[in-house]
Amino acid sequence: MSRTLQVLQAEIHVCRKCEIAGYIPEARPLTAGSQSARFMVIGQAPSRTDHLSGQFFVGPAGRRLREWFLEAGFAPEDFGSVIYSAAITKCFPGRVSGSSKDRAPSRAEQNLCRPWLDAEMAAVDPRVVVLFGGLAIGTFLSKRSLAELIGQTFEREGRLWIPLPHSSGASTWLNAAAHKTLLADAIVQLKTVRLEVTGQ
Ligand code: SF4
Repeated sequence: MSRTLQVLQAEIHVCRKCEIAGYIPEARPLTAGSQSARFMVIGQAPSRTDHLSGQFFVGPAGRRLREWFLEAGFAPEDFGSVIYSAAITKCFPGRVSGSSKDRAPSRAEQNLCRPWLDAEMAAVDPRVVVLFGGLAIGTFLSKRSLAELIGQTFEREGRLWIPLPHSSGASTWLNAAAHKTLLADAIVQLKTVRLEVTGQ
């Protein structure tokens, strides 16, 4: 890992901006990945399981995302080396009041955290960005409906962008048979791009 990314990740780990602003009770920022990663996954925010474990994508939704990557031919250990894990906000935002659902980070939290994500993107310079869920897709690609976007690969600013639906049980989008077909198409796209980028 280059010093530049090491320094950046160290700065991120001590960030307490959202805690100080009173948006979250405890800031515990996550970063995960190496300078050489050719792929970056951007989710919404760490889950409670991620927050407690200190690892990205280890809750139920994250494990499902990892399964999709395995279906596309990645190895489990590619997370961290080939795949850089990131999120629109790097700390667990807490739950929706009175619910077991994770709260989506507010616009103010997104704005506070965005410079970190932009800096990671600049430092890693991934060839492929996988946008995991509506918030990441809407932020970086388009606010069109998922049905219009999932299953396609987009080329912009020298990168390939692949949108994936969120795999949280709170999302019903994947319940529709037609949407499952779009997800299967997206995994094929991811596999094709992996072969192009890694050559294996
Ligand atoms: S979510 Fe981002 S900006 Fe907010 S405290 Fe965590 S790292 Fe800092």
